[in-house]
Amino acid sequence: MSQIRIVRIHNELLGTYGDQGNAEVLAFRAKFHGITTTIIDVGYNDPLPTNGDIYLLGGAEDAAQLLSLEALQRDDNLNILHFAIERGAVILAVCAGFQIIGNKFWANGQEVDGLGLLDVISVPGDKRLVGDIKTISTVLGFELTGFENHMGRTILGSGAEAFGKVVTGNGNGDSKFDGAVLGNIFGTYMHGPILARNPEFADLLLTRATGRKYAQITDPLALKYASWRRKVIK
Ligand code: GLN
Repeated sequence: MSQIRIVRIHNELLGTYGDQGNAEVLAFRAKFHGITTTIIDVGYNDPLPTNGDIYLLGGAEDAAQLLSLEALQRDDNLNILHFAIERGAVILAVCAGFQIIGNKFWANGQEVDGLGLLDVISVPGDKRLVGDIKTISTVLGFELTGFENHMGRTILGSGAEAFGKVVTGNGNGDSKFDGAVLGNIFGTYMHGPILARNPEFADLLLTRATGRKYAQITDPLALKYASWRRKVIK
């Protein structure tokens, strides 16, 4: 695959925490690997493209989160996501997006059905969890850093595994685990954007999306960036 399609879902609703930057990081990292990318911005009124390789959802406050859910439940959008998952496409969903792709969540004091793509439910907590978060990713096997800001607490069902073990911060709310993963579907509470703070995770998503392995980056600029990042982000 020489070109990958990155689908940025509802940037106008799910852009509050800067997670839209994940699309740019993917495009930037892809360049190092010789892959060209197209970023497809899908607005609230637009249908999802059927041929995306990576679908991205970001964080949002409750009202925007509910609008995004409604749009994703409209028309053929949910089927398109199901087919995309069957094709092996990648989904990265952050915070509000993570809650949306789960079975149920609470927003604005009401419980709603999510998209049911990940076996998790989210419930409201008694205080907002805000601050830096560090985890050891269960998938990558090494440390990820990010920033969290959410009311929701997420409980994993038997069909999902945690995405990270919490080192500092709260994650899903128990200070033990963050996010959930099932195949190529990734949910996390980590903003940052997560891919800007953890470019190796972007490489993993590109690997998963294309079926090719890109772990060995030899470009000096990329390597310099990676070692700089390790020094400044402790
Ligand atoms: N509204 C959700 C919550 O507070 C998600 C917040 C977010 O995306 N940062 O749990």
